This record gives sequence, C-alpha cells and structure tokens, in this order.
Amino acid sequence: MASSVLAPDAKSTSFWWEGHDQASLQQSEGSPPDRADVVVVGSGFTGLSAALTLARAGRQVVILDAEQPGFGCSTRNGGQVGPRFGPSFAELSASYGVERATRLKREGHNAYDYLTALIRDEAIECSFETSGHLLCVHAPGRFGPAAKAAEAEQKAFGIEAQVIPKSEQHREVGSDAFHGVILFPGGGALDPMRYHRGLLGRVMAAGAMLFAGQKVLGVERDGQDFAVALPGRTIRARDVVLATNGYTGDATPWWQRRIIPIGSYIIATEEIDPALMAKICPKRRMLHETRKVVYYYRPSPDQKRILFGGRVALSETDPRISAPRLHEAMVRVWPELQGVKVSHSWMGFVAFTFDHLPHVGSQDGVHHAMGYCGNGVPRSTYYGHKAALKVLGRPEGASELDPLEFQTRPLYRGTPWFLAPSLLYYKLRDRFA
Ligand SMILES: Cc1cc2nc3c(=O)[nH]c(=O)nc-3n(C[C@H](O)[C@H](O)[C@H](O)COP(=O)(O)OP(=O)(O)OC[C@H]3O[C@@H](n4cnc5c(N)ncnc54)[C@H](O)[C@@H]3O)c2cc1C
Repeated sequence: MASSVLAPDAKSTSFWWEGHDQASLQQSEGSPPDRADVVVVGSGFTGLSAALTLARAGRQVVILDAEQPGFGCSTRNGGQVGPRFGPSFAELSASYGVERATRLKREGHNAYDYLTALIRDEAIECSFETSGHLLCVHAPGRFGPAAKAAEAEQKAFGIEAQVIPKSEQHREVGSDAFHGVILFPGGGALDPMRYHRGLLGRVMAAGAMLFAGQKVLGVERDGQDFAVALPGRTIRARDVVLATNGYTGDATPWWQRRIIPIGSYIIATEEIDPALMAKICPKRRMLHETRKVVYYYRPSPDQKRILFGGRVALSETDPRISAPRLHEAMVRVWPELQGVKVSHSWMGFVAFTFDHLPHVGSQDGVHHAMGYCGNGVPRSTYYGHKAALKVLGRPEGASELDPLEFQTRPLYRGTPWFLAPSLLYYKLRDRFA
C-alpha cells in the first residue's frame, strides 16, 4: 500500500521547492559581522517581516538561520490565507469576554489585510488570488453549528459567508463527502515559496544581511547588549528577535517551554486530467474541514494538482508513511482520485501554544513573535512586523495579545508527551460528531 500510491520518482521535499534552486537563494557573502543593531533568529515569514520593518527604519539587521533561508514552515505550507483563524469567536468570548474576543478577532483580520497590502504594495509575485475558502462540514451534526458560527462572524465583523446545503454543494466542490459547505468568498491563496522569495528580495534590498547555516546556540544579556552564541563565536546585538516558531529549540529554553511543536503533513498529487480537475474543484476554492484534527486541501496555482494536508498519526512519522494515509483521506473526498499518485510528500513543524493564540512580546529584553497554531502565513507576516515595531519603541507595535501571559505547564520542556492522547481524543470527537 505504502509504495502503491507513491509515484516512482516521488520526493519527500516540499512541492513548492520545485524549480527553485536552493543554492541560488539570496543571502549575504562571508560570515556574520561581530556586531549588529538587531539579530533576528529565523528566516521564515516572521523573521523576514521583522527584518524588513527594522532595516527600513535604518537598523543594521543580521538574520541568522540554522538551515537555508525559509527552511521551516514558511516554504512548506498549504498557502491558504484568510482573515479567519481558530479559536472561534464563541470560544474566545468564553475565555476573554465578548469585548476582548472582538478585539482579538479584529487583529486577526488586520493580519490578513496587512499581508494583502504588503503583497500589493511590494508587487510580490506569488500567485496570490482571492479564491474563496470553503469550510466543508464533515458530519451532519456540524452543519448547524458551523452555519451559526459563520453568521455570527458575518454579523460581528462583516466577514462575508454563504451557507450552502448539501443539495447545492456540487457547484462549489465536486464531492458527496460533506454535509453542506460554508463559503467565505474573501479568503485567498498564494504560493508560499514565491512569497518567501519575494519578501527575501525586499529584505535584502532594504540592506539587511542574511546568513544561512548559522545555528544560534544561546542568547544572553551582556551589559546593555545581548550576546548571540554561534559555534565558536558570538555576535553582539542591541536587540534580538526570536522568529523560530515550531523549530524553537533548547538554545532558547524559556520559549521552548511555551511552544508545542506539531508536525503537519501534506502531499501533492501528480498532474490530474483537466476535465477531472474542473469537476472536483469547479471554482478553484481553498478547502478545509470542520474537524478538530483538520484536513486542508487545494488545487495548485496552475490547477494541475491537488495538495492535501492534515495530521494522520498520533506521533510524528515519516512523510513516506503519512503519504498513503493522506491519499486515503483524499480519496474519501474524491473517489475519482484513487488512481492518481503522489509526487511529493513532506511535513513541517507548526507551533501550538497552550492558549491557542500567537504571542508577540519580550522576555528579559529578548523579543519574540511565534505560536501561530498552524495558521500562520498572514499572522507571521503581521506579528513579525509588530515585533519590529516593538523593538523600535513605536506605539503601533501594541497588540491585543500584549496582556496575555505566554503560558507553559509544569514539567513541560518542549516535548509534547500529551500530544498522542489529545489527538486521539479529538479524532474520536470528530468521528462521533
Ligand atoms: C504542512 C504545513 C501546512 C501549513 N499550511 C498553512 C496554510 O495553509 N495557511 C497558513 O496560514 N499557515 C499554514 N501553515 C503554518 C505556516 O506555514 C507557519 O505558521 C508560518 O510559516 C510560520 O513562519 P515562521 O517564520 O514563524 O516560522 P518558520 O517558517 O517555521 O521559520 C522558523 C525558522 O527558524 C529557524 N531556526 C530555529 N531555531 C534556530 C536556531 N537556533 N538558530 C537559527 N535558526 C533557527 C529554522 O531553521 C526555521 O527556518 C502550515 C504549516 C505546515 C508545516
């Protein structure tokens, strides 16, 4: 089974990396300088967005990444972008009250607006389109609550939503697997690799320096500065921004204790017959399901393949093992894809937090923006920018997230031993919904 769904030349690297020569990625020559105004750790969207704002404000910025630029989730994700994000308005209201929940949700919408304005103003070519998002109802009992939640968000925030019953869902998605769908026409899609490349180009043009293969081993206060430890040397910096998200490790233990790294797995299919693509994705929507342990999928920007992602194992696994499970889930949605093979199967570590919200702020003077809970393309761009504004001491750096404690749990050191039982619980809830 495992090998039967994989194309003979299937790759375990991101589909988005195809056609991009990693070696030619823009980065600075030589080795990092001994001093910088700001060291940014991590070169995903958070790090690049922070660096762009800081460099344009005249700061000498050095970005360090342990791997190649954009090695983390930023060039591996599904490329679905929109104003909506979990937790729901009802969940946030229950935890923080309606007023606070409203402000938190608004900030999430601001993140999407910020991303779309940045792509437009910087003329970043990344196949961005407002393709519309479809929330596909996976169990009959979920249709009513999903419709109610969409209507509440429409009323409170003006997020347009159309509730479509099962009898009419074929005009949006060629599948009988769902019990109705909710269409959010304002949701969008992009090619994350091209977006990363575009942002990287703007960052370098703004004068920031980026050094790949530079694993930060620790960050310590050293008088007025910080000492950023690399193998065999240190860099002194007035400020440090941590942008390591799901790859946060033991170099920064305070943050490691607050981030829950969870693997998200995804496949790309081989090219599909255009007539079949038109049947299964008639309007090229971005799709995700009402499950807690979510599946998300989409057509590729050229409309030739399906990219299908989700969480398919209780513990972390190999992309070769996740591929047949994702393929099986895809065939449940579209039985016509039974014979279509997988050309790419890969994964990345997303960062969950104990309160299911991102965090932007500082600890002992070290700034951070992280914890996007699997929903981070707009929010990493936005909170990277916010973190930079905080470094600059600008009032616009304030966030609705500021008063929230960045929580940990007793004995938690960054290894989520509770993941398997939690996933099992949510999978059972999804099944019996
Ligand atoms: C399969 C998958 C699908 C997803 N789909 C979507 C989606 O459709 N829509 C959406 O909005 N979000 C999605 N996401 C989430 C989104 O990609 C992330 O939230 C976002 O890219 C996070 O960006 P980041 O810059 O904070 O972190 P990352 O891009 O993960 O970058 C962190 C970087 O830090 C570096 N680093 C870590 N430690 C060190 C160190 N000690 N020294 C130096 N460098 C270090 C790493 O090498 C890495 O490059 C998905 C994620 C995955 C994995």
